[in-house]
Amino acid sequence: NASGKDIATPTRTKEVLEKYGFSFKKSLGQNFLIDTNILHNIVDAADLDQSKAVVEVGPGIGALTEQLCRAAGRVVAIEIDQRLLPILGDTLAPYDNVEVVHGDVLELDLKALFRDKLAGYEKASVVANLPYYVTTPILMKLLEERLPLENIVVMIQKEVAERIAARPGTKDYGSLSVAAQFYAETEVAMIVPASVFIPRPNVDSAVIRLKIRDRPPVEVEDEDLFFRVVRACFAQRRKTLLNNLMNGLFDKARKDEVIQMLNDLEIDPVRRGETLSIEEFARLANESIRRHLLGKK
Ligand code: SAM
Repeated sequence: NASGKDIATPTRTKEVLEKYGFSFKKSLGQNFLIDTNILHNIVDAADLDQSKAVVEVGPGIGALTEQLCRAAGRVVAIEIDQRLLPILGDTLAPYDNVEVVHGDVLELDLKALFRDKLAGYEKASVVANLPYYVTTPILMKLLEERLPLENIVVMIQKEVAERIAARPGTKDYGSLSVAAQFYAETEVAMIVPASVFIPRPNVDSAVIRLKIRDRPPVEVEDEDLFFRVVRACFAQRRKTLLNNLMNGLFDKARKDEVIQMLNDLEIDPVRRGETLSIEEFARLANESIRRHLLGKK
């Protein structure tokens, strides 16, 4: 009965939890959504239709999962907590386009999962109300593994959402912003109050939308080096770009050459790392290769 009572209401959720005597595990970031309107907004942001596939991380008791089953052609939901599997078997019984995979999303071979369980779909989107204790590792894994993704639409802590979407020179801008914006166009889709979850989380939440890019916004010759440059530049926020680069990346003996390079790139060595754009980080990384600045002199 696909049009029946939504799971995401306080009454239905309580019913399900009581029926199974379920107790929340804080350590697994279990805060379940009990507001169907929020779920509709999340699903709308993901731009789904029957031709599309979705991977959900952490289905809980299936509140978001059932909305995804209605909106998409196929849903694969990865849940770490074994106690939820029989509950999901029950709540998702009306839907035949969903498969629940028991496992830790951080341990699973996602490439294989996409290949085996989403065969026939060129791409999929990830839609989830993420467990907050592992937000960043999950997002980085999804982005770095270069999975065939279209959108990532996830509920996360508001503060992390702001860091992901932050622009250069703002206090929230950091290596997470650069990494996310390197792989995706980022947008905070909505701010969500703690009152729509049980139990209520201690932090505000936001839904962020990452539209995965076909190619990076700037040309980067060596991606590993690019991210090493970025991490070095943000290592100590109050230090200058030059200090951070000399501490974290280049041999001290080559300081003059590094200054020369920065001058040639028209990047002021006394700027703070946090003011550099993705394009500037890329030029810096590429030019370091060209000038062989990373080996010993
Ligand atoms: N989707 C449900 C909802 O919106 O009501 C539940 C969301 S709850 C914030 C996070 C879910 O992720 C929980 O069901 C939790 O058990 C699961 N989870 C936590 N860590 C996980 C991991 N490493 N891999 C997969 N699922 C995980």
